[in-house]
Amino acid sequence: MIKAEYIWMDGTQPTKRLRSKTKILEKASWLERKADLPKWGFDGSSTGQATGEQSDCLLQPVFHCLDPVRGGDHILVLCEVRDFNDEPHPTNTRAKLRENLDSYAEYEPLFGIEQEYTMFSGMRPLGWPEGGYPAPQGPFYCGVGADEVFGRKVVEEHLEACLTAGLTISGLNAEVMPGQWEFQVGPEDALDACDQLMIARYLLFRIGEDHGVSLSLDPKPVRGDWNGAGAHTNFSTKAMREEGGLAVIEEACRKLGTRHDFHVENYGEGIERRLTGLHETCSYHDFSWGIGHRGASIRIPLQVAQDGCGYLEDRRPNANMDPYVVTRLMIETVCG
Ligand code: ADP
Ligand code: MN
Ligand code: MN
Ligand code: MN
Repeated sequence: MIKAEYIWMDGTQPTKRLRSKTKILEKASWLERKADLPKWGFDGSSTGQATGEQSDCLLQPVFHCLDPVRGGDHILVLCEVRDFNDEPHPTNTRAKLRENLDSYAEYEPLFGIEQEYTMFSGMRPLGWPEGGYPAPQGPFYCGVGADEVFGRKVVEEHLEACLTAGLTISGLNAEVMPGQWEFQVGPEDALDACDQLMIARYLLFRIGEDHGVSLSLDPKPVRGDWNGAGAHTNFSTKAMREEGGLAVIEEACRKLGTRHDFHVENYGEGIERRLTGLHETCSYHDFSWGIGHRGASIRIPLQVAQDGCGYLEDRRPNANMDPYVVTRLMIETVCG
């Protein structure tokens, strides 16, 4: 038998959460027909996705990989949610990205997402003293040592799990606020980047369980002079990656500026708590872009400016953003 963990995004407002449950598949029949994992159902009235009378929702498998937690041949199965009439559910933002992507295929968009997150032990960020605060920010970013870095065991286990699952992880680092970390997914095409990010988030939450650590994607987990948590979204088209791409990147920055408010409204709940203009952010009231500028909305990495081509970094998305929404809006605004 194979244990298949079916994973989906729920309908919790204002920020959707991941849910999962286990389906037992017969090993022989699964190995024979790898391509078509069975559909499944769940009680949508318990996930904010249906009413009691028409409570059934459907899970349509769309992406699977080895389950590094259970090991063996066990698998993780990412699903799209479909409604009572077998149509994409209103919460199914993946379907909308999937349907729109075809018209932008010629641009060959690629995404790399930097997922920041904060570890909690009970009500406190990991490593924070009881009833007080740690030393001011400064030594923690990319730090080393027991007085500066908290949660490395979870981080290493998560990295190992992601690599075993076959995800494209390009790196990780300890962040500016103690107890805060980041990993990077990609570059991959839009659907793969988003699907892999979903699996990576799932693995983080799941591995945290084994360590008594809860993981928060809150964009500003601690008020005051502490960094928030974002999900910088790095984006390129074929033209940006080729010689002369810098001009295409600059044009993309100008286009993103014309729809700033619309993007920010869709970049994650609580974005006004995080985009204050402090802590390496540009205020959500303003739009700006610049080379190597971490106080800008959009940053063109210095290396990209030197090479004359590459990608841009949208620094606005929150850690709790829906990647299927963020990547779709970026493609629509820049390539539309
Ligand atoms: P920083 O912290 O300096 O902003 P990181 O190294 O954390 O940068 O993240 C860089 C991100 O850029 C990674 O997610 C990587 O996948 C992504 N990336 C690299 N090249 C491209 C590209 N051509 N198109 C889109 N994303 C890219
Ligand atoms: Mn980074
Ligand atoms: Mn970061
Ligand atoms: Mn970044």
